[in-house]
Amino acid sequence: MTTDTILPDAASFDTLGLAPPLLKAVVDTGYATPTPIQAKAIPLALQGLDLMAGAQTGTGKTAAFALPILQKLLPFASSSTSPAKHPIRALVLVPTRELAIQVEESFKVYAKHTPLKSLVVFGGVDIRTQTPHLKTGIEILVATPGRLLDHVEQKTLNLGQVQILVLDEADRMLDMGFMPDLKRILALLPKLRQNLMFSATFSNEIKRLADDFLTNPVLVEVARSNATNDNVTQKVYQMAQADKQAFLTQLLLKDDVKQVIVFTKTKITASKLSRALQKEGIAADAIHGDKSQKERIEALDAFKAGKITVLVATDVAARGLDISDLPMVINYEIPSAPEDYVHRIGRTGRAGASGVAISLVCEFEEEFLANIEKLIKKTLIKVKADIEPTSRKPAHHAAPTSNPKNHTTSDANREKYVAKPRQHSRKPATDPWFDAPYEPTVLNTDSLKTMTGINRKLPVAALLGGLRVGK
Ligand code: AMP
Repeated sequence: MTTDTILPDAASFDTLGLAPPLLKAVVDTGYATPTPIQAKAIPLALQGLDLMAGAQTGTGKTAAFALPILQKLLPFASSSTSPAKHPIRALVLVPTRELAIQVEESFKVYAKHTPLKSLVVFGGVDIRTQTPHLKTGIEILVATPGRLLDHVEQKTLNLGQVQILVLDEADRMLDMGFMPDLKRILALLPKLRQNLMFSATFSNEIKRLADDFLTNPVLVEVARSNATNDNVTQKVYQMAQADKQAFLTQLLLKDDVKQVIVFTKTKITASKLSRALQKEGIAADAIHGDKSQKERIEALDAFKAGKITVLVATDVAARGLDISDLPMVINYEIPSAPEDYVHRIGRTGRAGASGVAISLVCEFEEEFLANIEKLIKKTLIKVKADIEPTSRKPAHHAAPTSNPKNHTTSDANREKYVAKPRQHSRKPATDPWFDAPYEPTVLNTDSLKTMTGINRKLPVAALLGGLRVGK
């Protein structure tokens, strides 16, 4: 493949070359047109090529790999109940349990008109509950790396027939220190296989990983890496650290917010803050790594069902959460890694919807904010927070009192904030960003080499601008 192999943009799923049972499942979900990453990645993956795909969260990247995988496995689909007829043929590695659950759910949705079977395995739950399911035989396994290796050690699965490997959110896998596990897993797989790698950001480490495990990859990028969605309005409020809790409460009670994820840097802050908000009468819960898997799933389900209006989360726990129509995220603390900001605010404005991302910034976090602005190539407008005197708590107060008289906000506003079941809409994206024709930027292989740092000739199928040059 050469640099001039630019594939036309697909206006509809019918033109992507997908088999009828998959098209039917897509129609059932209500998707009208493929998202840009789907339009680019699906035909290439169907050709059996290795992909290095740069796609932000919320761009539809799960279907971009799930649909071609299912199509490639269709010839092997069997209705037999014999486990031998259902060896693991596709392995999808993801960084977190929540993402693992979501990705596997997507496979089930897209595979519903086929006999292909999928399973998810992740840590934090009794391994023995997963083994019987593995033994029945499944074609697609979605796994977190650690638990996959546990199963390998216990000889409860066999990876000898894997034909397709996906590394989803590869950047986060590296951030979470999964590199040694990934190397061990790669060594267990057949050498001849197709590899699909998805990452929201392209750091030097990601490029090295791509070098290690992809063969002549096609680079596909549909939104600027490290870019934030234009349909997310970003606001920054400056204040003292000690005023953040009061300001957040004021914001939540006053603003017309339906549901929000509030990000903190630490698990302790997440727990404390959710308790403090509860005392203010706000339906909040925390989701972080110290919570059991059961607690995390319960909190997430409650949030999705609208029983909780504020989910306080750390970065690791929130990674990959797909909550449709989430209108707002709030950065209670600014992440020191600027990429995390991109991931956090990618929780809103998904699938073409619009969203708001609010950051509460204290003096020592200004430096982190400057790094974020550099990364996203945008200057954010900063406003001094106007904190109502009655909202302000003495600094030593770990949690605000539950006395509503402490607030100037009315009970009516407080009422408004009591959770109501969310209306789940699976309506197709109507945002012009999704519907706009694909405009590839053609690069020659030399400039691509410099940009990606991959020291060999990459066949380039399609590339939209925005790779960080020389980084
Ligand atoms: P993902 O980036 O895979 O996490 O997907 C983000 C959201 O986009 C999910 O809620 C998907 O159901 C939704 N989605 C995926 N593909 C499409 C599409 N072609 N049209 C509308 N929504 C989609």
